[in-house]
Amino acid sequence: MSDNGSADVLVIGAGLAGLSAAVALSGAGADVALVERKPHVGGRAYSYEHPALEEVVDSQHVLLGCCTNLIDLCRLAGADRHIRWYDKITFLEPGRASGAARRSDIGASFLPAPGHSSWSFLRASMLSVADKASIALGLLEFLRGYPLSDEEPFSAWLKRTKQTDRAIRHFWEPVIVGTLNDTFDRCSTRYAGQVFHESFMKSAEGGRLGIPAQPLSEFYTAVAQLAEKQGTSLHLRTSIDRIESMPDGAWTATASDGSIYRAGSLVLALPFEQTARLVGTLPEESIQRQRILPAMDHFTHSPITTIHLWFDRVITELDHAALLDTRIQWMFNKSRIRRFEESAVAQPGQYLELVISASFAELHRTREEIVSAAVEELAGFFPVVREARILKSGVLKEARATFSVVPGLDRFRPAADGAGEGLYLAGDWTLTGWPSTMEGAVRSGRLAAEAVARGAGKQGRFLTPDLPATGLMRLLGC
Ligand SMILES: Cc1cc2nc3c(=O)[nH]c(=O)nc-3n(C[C@H](O)[C@H](O)[C@H](O)COP(=O)(O)OP(=O)(O)OC[C@H]3O[C@@H](n4cnc5c(N)ncnc54)[C@H](O)[C@@H]3O)c2cc1C
Repeated sequence: MSDNGSADVLVIGAGLAGLSAAVALSGAGADVALVERKPHVGGRAYSYEHPALEEVVDSQHVLLGCCTNLIDLCRLAGADRHIRWYDKITFLEPGRASGAARRSDIGASFLPAPGHSSWSFLRASMLSVADKASIALGLLEFLRGYPLSDEEPFSAWLKRTKQTDRAIRHFWEPVIVGTLNDTFDRCSTRYAGQVFHESFMKSAEGGRLGIPAQPLSEFYTAVAQLAEKQGTSLHLRTSIDRIESMPDGAWTATASDGSIYRAGSLVLALPFEQTARLVGTLPEESIQRQRILPAMDHFTHSPITTIHLWFDRVITELDHAALLDTRIQWMFNKSRIRRFEESAVAQPGQYLELVISASFAELHRTREEIVSAAVEELAGFFPVVREARILKSGVLKEARATFSVVPGLDRFRPAADGAGEGLYLAGDWTLTGWPSTMEGAVRSGRLAAEAVARGAGKQGRFLTPDLPATGLMRLLGC
């Protein structure tokens, strides 16, 4: 059994929540230890060398311009130069009778917010005039903001605002299922409204689409290096089995190899089920158990499945696209996205990644079934797929990709200092005001760092402000 000495703060979990807490606290001069059970940092935003494919794979993560805390963290670490930014999103409808796909591009123009996307929106062929009218009327509800209450399911909102069938399939669904990763009845209007207000209406910058061009573990290594440079001691391959509160107010955490970590404050930067497991090792009568465990039954996961295809030829010149009327909802052209990186090796052919959000059905399908259905659908957009040879393929099923922002969940999401007595909580599922995203995770880590500082009687402001409203949205006081 080894004793790792005592730190001011011990952070368990080196996903984005734990990394951002460690960077904030060590940057403010605290002595921080960060432990992670995997051999890499980044948590769910990870990449790895697939042994059978002999390729570095990840499930493509994207961010938006309104993710101010994530962007700030990447900038501090110097990782922001690996983000590719796009001002428009291409939507494709499958071609009829093996013809070419129909394309609509939605993005910012010279018009001031909230009308900056209206020029491209009015020209989009994927929607009829009636669809556009119902969307425009619906969006008016989010002009000044979004509901504070998260009780209403988005499915009820779509009905209440009389959205047309095609407006739902070609607009609300690709955006909301893509960002909140669940079905409409399991997403609250509050978070759907937030997506549209922050990214579609408040400013053109808020809606820019950012794609990390490096494999994710490489991308987030820079953040871990920043934490270490500031004095954080990082312990990989260290799985914590048990936590304990000491009579002097300090905390200890015992790893599966028996080693012990001590600190004045403990931050659990874990997914909700791992948090429940560790809080469950505290005595029955502890206030942390009583405050945290009853809420945990209200959290649920939603899966994401990604399909990775290496073709012997070029399939498309697009970097990415939203695919309409199919199970596969997004296409990322990894060959093109990664091509400017120093590590990029030019290869013949093309590597595409297809994403199925809220992929509950795919959890029960075989790899072969998923690949063959996806290739069939892809050929509906790019007929050249029918002649192309697939050199290799892979499927990543992430059953616990995100937690679902089911209606009414907010009252069960604990604040960073909700556990009490020197135990702090971080993780995308805590009370951040954001859904299950990298931005939510970074905010949670920074909120936990602020709570730790407050607990030590110090001032600490680590959150980055939201983007300001621009154009007419400023006049509306948004
Ligand atoms: C396939 C997929 C696609 C996604 N796409 C997007 C996207 O496009 N945009 C976006 O913003 N978000 C996306 N997300 C969500 C995003 O990845 C998460 O919201 C975010 O990474 C959560 O970070 P976290 O730090 O809260 O938790 P995690 O990333 O889960 O980090 C928790 C860490 O704790 C470690 N840990 C757990 N138990 C222990 C223990 N006992 N001891 C030590 N360490 C432990 C874990 O190994 C992990 O590293 C996606 C997620 C997935 C899976």
